[in-house]
Amino acid sequence: MKKINGILIVDGISCFPVSWLSSRDFCEYQLYLEKIKNVRVEKTIEMVMGSEIHKKLEEEFLLKVTEKMSIWDSLEISKKEYRSFLVRELEVVSKRYGIYGKIDEVQIFPDKILIIDDKPGKKVYNGVKKQVWGYALCFIDQFNPDRDVFTAVRSTDDGEFSWKEKFDENSADLVLNDILEIHDLIKEVRVPKSTLNLNKCGRCRFREVCDRCLVKAPAGK
Ligand code: SF4
Repeated sequence: MKKINGILIVDGISCFPVSWLSSRDFCEYQLYLEKIKNVRVEKTIEMVMGSEIHKKLEEEFLLKVTEKMSIWDSLEISKKEYRSFLVRELEVVSKRYGIYGKIDEVQIFPDKILIIDDKPGKKVYNGVKKQVWGYALCFIDQFNPDRDVFTAVRSTDDGEFSWKEKFDENSADLVLNDILEIHDLIKEVRVPKSTLNLNKCGRCRFREVCDRCLVKAPAGK
């Protein structure tokens, strides 16, 4: 298989970043151009600002850290001593599903786990939900928690949750299907689909270089 930026090989298994689930939900062809065909375009201001906000949240969190322990210890102690723990930027990997990523925040309670992704704005797109479900799959596969897992998106605008729900079999099935299709895309045995939504093409950073763009460039361009 050819080398693809972002793919991690773990014990011989190809793992792709969980964030690709969100990109692919916007337009599979965009993911294909960027990751498989390695087409390069400028980052958007929103992407640059998003990275800055995450960095700031991480710095603020590190100032408040009181103790360090493994996730397995946190799971055990939270149940035994009825305590709660908060972990930021947790790196997870699942060989079983061939995915990996960094979870913005995991809150460990005696009776549940909350997997949180921080995003600007209040609207929660399906792709973002799939990304958080991907993190949940990874977390469950890696740590096998003995309690319910909830998934949530929190707005970086005001720190409020914009979406939260229990991670169940339906969500797992939905995201598993996407994971399999992305693996097919990586293996180049799947023909990428492109969006039929003009608005997406209109705000896509690949529109100048995309041969399937639905929005015509203004005359003279
Ligand atoms: S321009 Fe449209 S079809 Fe092309 S990658 Fe972007 S969203 Fe997809």
